[in-house]
Amino acid sequence: MLLPWWIMKRKAFIQQSTLWAGGLLVSPHIIHTENEMTSNKSIPTNLPYVISTWNVPFATKITGDALNKGVEALDAAVLGVAYEEANLQNTTVGNGGSPDRDGEVTLDACVMNHEGNCGAVMAVQNITHVAALAKDVMEKTPHVILAGEGAKKFALEQGYQAENLLSEKSKKEWEKWLEKGNYNPKINIENHDTIGMLCSDQNGNLSGVCTTSGLAYKMKGRVGDSPVIGSGLYIDNAIGGAVATGLGEEVIKTVGSFLIVELMRQGKTPQEACEEAVSRILEKQKGKPDFQVAYLATNKKGEIGSYSIHSGFSYTIYKNDLNQNIASKAMY
Ligand code: ASP
Repeated sequence: MLLPWWIMKRKAFIQQSTLWAGGLLVSPHIIHTENEMTSNKSIPTNLPYVISTWNVPFATKITGDALNKGVEALDAAVLGVAYEEANLQNTTVGNGGSPDRDGEVTLDACVMNHEGNCGAVMAVQNITHVAALAKDVMEKTPHVILAGEGAKKFALEQGYQAENLLSEKSKKEWEKWLEKGNYNPKINIENHDTIGMLCSDQNGNLSGVCTTSGLAYKMKGRVGDSPVIGSGLYIDNAIGGAVATGLGEEVIKTVGSFLIVELMRQGKTPQEACEEAVSRILEKQKGKPDFQVAYLATNKKGEIGSYSIHSGFSYTIYKNDLNQNIASKAMY
């Protein structure tokens, strides 16, 4: 069977990642500018560029380096997030992600490209690289979404390997949670860190990827915003793109990423659009909520915006061979 391109490349990729982890290659440049505010940061003449939720300098560097070599935006984004999907230390994405309350790791992901095509997988077990799988759904099936057993069956048919995704680290944390968790899903500010990545390639085409293990200790079968096109991710190559992280239930109720792109279509900057999308959530709350939602967006001019309910959210920009991790503006 002909293996997907990313599996063929995976061996070399893992070797390279291991070298990075061992400090043998030049590590990604990281500049922390925690207090720097980012409204309307403009990089229109500096294609390509990558932005991602959270501090993920290896992922953004992998994507950015691929873009610099002429790789198309969606292929590059899938390659970059694969690093975090395989990173066992990251308990919010891919292999080693936090399990549901039954102790099973179920992953969600979606992709969207500059042509408006998209693919998604939901509640997938035993498959690490769900962003690549979502791309395969987009490219190799007549469908947009595959869920659960069907998504896994498709993955195995495509040559993906079945793996145990519950790492020792995540298992220990889950067992500790079980002692006091009363088997209730945990919803608070800290327990979510989805990777949502947007990038523009050398042709100025935008694509995006969202990949996650979802809310830690969720109910079995629960799916959040991350694999839902329009909620966790949306791209309109004529306008821009947006991604979300945080409590997916609230993002879904306001179709957050689609809302942001539509607000940008109406003339708002990415920053204004992200702030408005957070407001739509907050106006339904009585007082200060105890959950987090954060948005990250870019437009065709290369302007970037981000906004979250609570402080603590940051995002990474990679351009001109340089990573910057930037603290987002927040309501509280
Ligand atoms: N948005 C994700 C979800 O609700 C969680 C996260 O951002 O980590 O599943």
